[in-house]
Amino acid sequence: MTDRISKEHRSWNMSRIRSTDTKPEVVVRKLLHVLGYRFRLHGKVNKRLCNTGILPGKPDIVLAKYKTVIFVHGCFWHRHKECKRTTTPKTRTEFWQNKFSLNVKNDKQNLQILKALGWHVITIWECDVLSFIKEAKDLSVKKTAIAQYLQSELLPFTYDQSNPAPAKLVAENTKDYSAGK
Ligand SMILES: [Zn+2]
Repeated sequence: MTDRISKEHRSWNMSRIRSTDTKPEVVVRKLLHVLGYRFRLHGKVNKRLCNTGILPGKPDIVLAKYKTVIFVHGCFWHRHKECKRTTTPKTRTEFWQNKFSLNVKNDKQNLQILKALGWHVITIWECDVLSFIKEAKDLSVKKTAIAQYLQSELLPFTYDQSNPAPAKLVAENTKDYSAGK
């Protein structure tokens, strides 16, 4: 599908990734688009897949064809482990700690529900998106670590539309793509 994007259009996408819209979620959306994936936003799905039409935790990106959702998490708010962005404000520390633990608890719960519903969950961290932007300046967008990670995570989940069970159910969201670097 990506090959159908004209050269001009592709370089437009790449320049957009490089210069503007550095909001991590927007960057990941643009990247997926360059890779040829189609998706919906903020947990929206056909009611056939989830009776409320919105998946738990409103995942940022929903790839229904792959029965996969992507969360693009801010390191600070979602407490990315061992990340330098995961700081704690020096004032009103207790307030912040309560807020953070609630976020982490909700994330865990949503993950469990989504997995139980048969969804494959991918979590992408803000700091990894930022390193992707840096990497995309020297490499073709498709050759960046994050692009290769997304494709390797998504490919096994292509499934026959007439059979709504995903081809593979070993969803493991905790895998950090940067660990393989
Ligand atoms: Zn981080």
